[in-house]
Amino acid sequence: MQENIMEKIVSLAKRRGFVFQGSELYGGLQGTWDYGPLGVLMKNNIKAAWWKKNIQERGDMVGLDAAILMNRKVWEASGHTKFMFDDLVECKACHHRFRKDKVGPKCPDCGGDFSDAKPFNLMLETVVGPVASDDAKIFLRPETAQGIFVDYQLIQETTRRKLPFGVGQIGKSFRNEITPGNFVFRVREFEQMEIEYFCRPEEGMTKYEEWRQARLAWWLGLGIKKDNIRFYEYKKEELAHYSAGTTDVEFAFPFGKNGWDELEGIAYRTDFDLKAHINASGQDIGYFDEETKTKIVPHVVEPSAGVDRAFLAFMLNGYEEIAGGRSTTTESNKEVETVLHLHPAIAPYKAAVLPLSKKPELSVPAKALVAELRKRWMVDYDETSAIGRRYRRQDEIGTPYCITFDFDSLEDKKVTVRDRDTMAQDRVAIAELEAYLEEKLKY
Ligand code: ATP
Repeated sequence: MQENIMEKIVSLAKRRGFVFQGSELYGGLQGTWDYGPLGVLMKNNIKAAWWKKNIQERGDMVGLDAAILMNRKVWEASGHTKFMFDDLVECKACHHRFRKDKVGPKCPDCGGDFSDAKPFNLMLETVVGPVASDDAKIFLRPETAQGIFVDYQLIQETTRRKLPFGVGQIGKSFRNEITPGNFVFRVREFEQMEIEYFCRPEEGMTKYEEWRQARLAWWLGLGIKKDNIRFYEYKKEELAHYSAGTTDVEFAFPFGKNGWDELEGIAYRTDFDLKAHINASGQDIGYFDEETKTKIVPHVVEPSAGVDRAFLAFMLNGYEEIAGGRSTTTESNKEVETVLHLHPAIAPYKAAVLPLSKKPELSVPAKALVAELRKRWMVDYDETSAIGRRYRRQDEIGTPYCITFDFDSLEDKKVTVRDRDTMAQDRVAIAELEAYLEEKLKY
């Protein structure tokens, strides 16, 4: 990856309205970021692409949107009140605090010595209702997964699903990270895309392997380069006691240990979670097997990806700077040109309509064209400045197609469609433009 690429991404993200520091007007709030006009489009596209491939196109998956606020007992049963801890160390000299596994033996800020590690619970607490009693104290969920386990039986019964089947959910999660940082990589409020896939115990290992391959294929299918992604499979001694297999899908995040860090976790969790809820709630929410007339507790495979880390991975993966520029237009002043190679399914705008001149002769029909296209897709419109500059503005935000409406368009009823990556230009009849784009943007 390019040098200083994180600084470049953060700067591009701010300059073009992808991501802003949360509460910036008041000095910010650490570990929070706001997704601006382009960022929200890209994030929505990531979530839609995940939903499409992992739920819509599979016959064995259903969706859920559980509440963020849950009964405190959920987190006692799941083990989060006991185990959701990171080791915290404090520098004796400057009193800065760090997550122990993320720092060396000395304080990175002043070189001072650390205190002994103390456990620090990562769940954020809040209070519900008008009386601040102990019962009113609840947590903001640190993962979306528990909503699926708690609703497991309701989902299975209402959809009359037979094993194997899975439930997918996208939503906000909160963790009081000791040291948030690396832009949106580690934040205190983030979004997860999680799947719990329920199966018979004897199928567990097969399903775990199938999900590893399916999830890798999803990332590659959205343009993540092979060299930027890999599996890190946990060794036996690294596994949680209930897990029969865990793989981190790692991306080549430039700040990661040896250049890699976690993008998604895929864990074969056996029957740990459902059993924990059966024991704590006293309710037998297992699966009734019609064939054998017995109750079993399904095993679970959990692929869990972060939306914010996905956003950052797609930005890093797609970012390219071309020294001296690649435009052949005379407007090109041979500056460094930036192209964001985003898969069309992820790109904030699918196309931009650019009239060659802002004279009404061209701008009126060009505006009519963009109004039509906007019924189907997010399409930008830009009539200011020279055409070369406008192309570069779209390249930088990853718009895959620029549609130029010129004086010939008035005669031949055709427009020029320029491809962001190859810069190849096609002359396309306006009457066929939607079908043309439909084919190009298919996902
Ligand atoms: P890490 O080891 O980096 O703290 P984790 O192993 O605790 O992550 P999981 O509990 O497996 O993470 O969560 C699943 C996914 O949720 C992660 O792969 C990541 O994409 C996302 N995620 C977790 N914590 C954060 C966070 N603080 N900020 C942004 N995304 C997060």
